[in-house]
Amino acid sequence: MPEYINAVKPYLEKAPEQAFENIRTVRSISLAVNQAIAVYGGYEIPSPDVSWNLLEYCADTNSAIGWLATMITIDEEFGCWCLPLAAEYDEKTRARYPQVSRKEYGAHSTLAHRFVLSSLFNPTLTRDLHWDHICRSHACCNPTHGELVTAKTNNARKDLSLRHTTGMETLF
Ligand SMILES: [Zn+2]
Repeated sequence: MPEYINAVKPYLEKAPEQAFENIRTVRSISLAVNQAIAVYGGYEIPSPDVSWNLLEYCADTNSAIGWLATMITIDEEFGCWCLPLAAEYDEKTRARYPQVSRKEYGAHSTLAHRFVLSSLFNPTLTRDLHWDHICRSHACCNPTHGELVTAKTNNARKDLSLRHTTGMETLF
């Protein structure tokens, strides 16, 4: 998929001042290049082959992602970049996410999705910014499977999805 890689390459850049825009652009190019998959809640993720190609390219060109990729398995159906995760929730039903540690890459119990964003785009991430996993898989660190939103937005979306799942309220 060389055209896709050529299109996305200029935006895989460690440029903090335009990082958020780059993250959004990589996602929109990825969605446009092949038939995207509609997932829960009306959101879309790229087709799995796009995610395969993106991981392969990033692993080849970025040493931090190259290291991480040795632990990633790609989900065949959705193209999630999955890392081992014992449970999606802890005993108090708080969401859990894979964490990574590697001194060389400045990671010390760093959330895997934040590690990927930092390694590829180097955004300025405050504690108030959350990564909303559009694919709903906590184990996933695919940068095209999420959106950076404020904690408030993320929690509102979570409430909606929970109510939707339990049938308490429709989304319309
Ligand atoms: Zn995913």
